[in-house]
Amino acid sequence: MHHPDTATQDRFPAQDRFADGAQYIAGRPAHGTSGHTHTVLDPATGGAVLTYALAGTEDVDAAVAAARDAFPGWAGAAPGERADALHRFAAVLAERAEDFARAESLQCGKPLKLTREFDVPGTIDNTAFFAGAARHLEGRSAGEYSGDHTSYVRREPLGVVGSIAPWNYPLQMAAWKILPAIAAGNTIVLKPAELTPLTSLMFARAATDAGIPDGVINIVTGTGKEAGEHLVGHPDVVMTSFTGSTGVGRRVAEIATATVKRLHLELGGKAPFVVFDDADLDAAVNGAVAGALINTGQDCTAATRAYVQRAHYEEFVARTAALMETVRLGDPFAAGTDLGPLISHAQRDRVAGFVDRARAYARVVTGGEAPQGELKDGAYYRPTLIADAPQDSEIVQSEIFGPVLAVLPFDTDDEGIALANDTPYGLAASAWSRDVYRANRATREIKAGCVWVNDHIPIISEMPHGGYKSSGFGKDMSAYSFEEYTQLKHVMFDNTAVVRKDWHRTVFGDR
Ligand code: NAD
Repeated sequence: MHHPDTATQDRFPAQDRFADGAQYIAGRPAHGTSGHTHTVLDPATGGAVLTYALAGTEDVDAAVAAARDAFPGWAGAAPGERADALHRFAAVLAERAEDFARAESLQCGKPLKLTREFDVPGTIDNTAFFAGAARHLEGRSAGEYSGDHTSYVRREPLGVVGSIAPWNYPLQMAAWKILPAIAAGNTIVLKPAELTPLTSLMFARAATDAGIPDGVINIVTGTGKEAGEHLVGHPDVVMTSFTGSTGVGRRVAEIATATVKRLHLELGGKAPFVVFDDADLDAAVNGAVAGALINTGQDCTAATRAYVQRAHYEEFVARTAALMETVRLGDPFAAGTDLGPLISHAQRDRVAGFVDRARAYARVVTGGEAPQGELKDGAYYRPTLIADAPQDSEIVQSEIFGPVLAVLPFDTDDEGIALANDTPYGLAASAWSRDVYRANRATREIKAGCVWVNDHIPIISEMPHGGYKSSGFGKDMSAYSFEEYTQLKHVMFDNTAVVRKDWHRTVFGDR
């Protein structure tokens, strides 16, 4: 049994906030009807944050019906009207920024400085970006291509989009799914991860308060098996956009394919961090610690495999370990905390399992344990550096999703790039060098949706995010995301008014 935690309720009184239910359908909250409940836990203490009724298939049906009803009006609104609504939405989010930061920190265990400076401002900026982008949807071709006709392209919304999001950045993932979809004139049903529903619900509420019509954004919080699969297979849903693990992505793809849906998959990652021997080693060490530990390593683009050219390998290992040891684990709400817990005790144990198995074949240089003392009840794990693991080992090949960095040496540039490409994933990567030719070669040859040079992690609303290989396909953020959320229609007008056209003779008669 989870005990109600008064400290937790003081930080953010979630149980009061969501007394009307943790579903958001047609512009209002509702209780789920699955007959099952879920308790959101504070990963820093294990205390109960919110117990809510999970969505069942009927709730998903109601949400899809609300989105379908809202579609003609929203799709038919002028782009400027949608843009105005999104600008107001960004303003409401900005007014509530501190509230969002606290809720996100509470349900995820993220330090407040991370949610205040990254998750929440990033979401507000994304909302403002899509307010502008809503007015720039365009078809590229128009003209008399046959000589006898005028052709043009209409870019049209799809209809009801069904999206599924993970728990690592619940607010940003909700924003990445919802904003391009609705900016393009679609309506949406989003299923957040059941562990982290709070900020998705608050996001939908803020949209209503900003004047976005009821039914344009709907949230169903239920399990993947019940609510998720029903949403993906729903006949009135025309597109599935999924962010999560590659394994679940495969299952989602099967269901979406069987019902002929457009599909967008943002899946796992295992980002390489390639340090050439002319790199600024100070910059690389700082970048590796920040890039590996951001969000306690629960980031699909986090640096997970550092490849360091032989001359600097031992120094890089020693200095990275030393810097990791200065990182302050602690209460996400306390000043001075750098790193919070993982999302859950189960995730912490999963990460510990990877590290414990690696002891048989690699060197655990620092970390490799959960802290004791006053942090012992939370899902904490110490920043961990693992050296000398073989390239084909589990710790180098599998997505761990925790504060764990593996470091391996390489000799030639060819080898460094080949090792960077040697996993099934291809979401993000970085190259560290002061030689523009070397760095430029790495950006061309590393197979990933994003390659940073001399940095690792930053994202911006104007630029696309999405994977190569088993990391999925399709783009979030940026104007490129409209390719996922719109369809093109060719419109062709006859200009001749000729009754019996020349080409008709291929079907009847002669010239
Ligand atoms: P997950 O795959 O376990 O779950 C993701 C979502 O899918 C959740 O909402 C879950 O309820 C739902 N789900 C589970 N089973 C389902 C099913 N059978 N049908 C439909 N939906 C189902 O992932 P997670 O543990 O929540 O998140 C971590 C994963 O997400 C990591 O692999 C990470 O790399 C990935 N991720 C990728 C990106 C990206 O942009 N590529 C961003 C963030 C996270």
